[in-house]
Amino acid sequence: MKLSPAIAKRIRQIILTQGVTRSTLFITVSSVVLSVAIAKLAALLMPGSSGRFNITIAVIVPLLVAPPFAYIFISLYFELEKVREEMHALAITDELTRVFNRRYFMRLARLELDRSKRNQHTVSVIIFDIDNFKSINDRYGHLCGDAVLRELSLACCRVLRPYDTFARYGGEEFILLLPETDEASALQVANRLCEFASNYVIEYKGIPVQVTISIGVTTSDLSRDTLDDLLNRADQALYRAKQLGKNRLEVARFNPLSA
Ligand code: GH3
Ligand code: MG
Ligand code: MG
Repeated sequence: MKLSPAIAKRIRQIILTQGVTRSTLFITVSSVVLSVAIAKLAALLMPGSSGRFNITIAVIVPLLVAPPFAYIFISLYFELEKVREEMHALAITDELTRVFNRRYFMRLARLELDRSKRNQHTVSVIIFDIDNFKSINDRYGHLCGDAVLRELSLACCRVLRPYDTFARYGGEEFILLLPETDEASALQVANRLCEFASNYVIEYKGIPVQVTISIGVTTSDLSRDTLDDLLNRADQALYRAKQLGKNRLEVARFNPLSA
């Protein structure tokens, strides 16, 4: 059994307009009135009743009065919880690709970097950008570009490790945070991604569309790196990969002299 949406809406409106104190007062008074009415009815039906009968009434009355109010409020609470979960999902997800958005990535990345410093583990960051994406939009249309972003990001999720955080960093750029991962392992992941993307064919309205990606990789220094340092280095590596001909990966390492 479910509270009908129209009734739930009406109750929400009443509670919101009346406020907490008046709503509580209303429920209390209604419960008392209902209890008295039920007790009176029982006394009318069984005149001259015993003390035992009164105890039975004392048990039966709350059994009849409490469930409707409890039902209404617990239903409203569940509805609220569902909406809260939907809002949370919307707040952390990129609308087009359904992967995490940049804001959520930054939050998780900061936490992960702090954790890695405490535990003396390295973390790695991989940024990749689709090559010549503008020409896909120009040749096949913006909707095709959207489909490529959606399909490719979904496909990448399938080849990534479940504990890596993958997000859309902006436009046709994506980012990956690899916890407890050194440079050698990050390079393996990046190579796998680069190869996967270049072999992946996206079908858009029967047209096969192929893309390549350029990748920047960096791994944290255990003591000094901030998240901005990591992101800047990964960006520099990505820039180099573009300069050196695209469809490739480049690494940027921590430089103690520039720190
Ligand atoms: P490069 O290889 O140097 O990265 O070239 P590029 O063409 O990929 O990069 P450029 O920065 O010149 O163009 C990026 C294009 O991505 C331009 C922009 O309109 C498009 N773009 C950004 N976000 C979206 C999106 O959500 N959907 C679509 N369809 N296109 C997008
Ligand atoms: Mg690009
Ligand atoms: Mg770009």
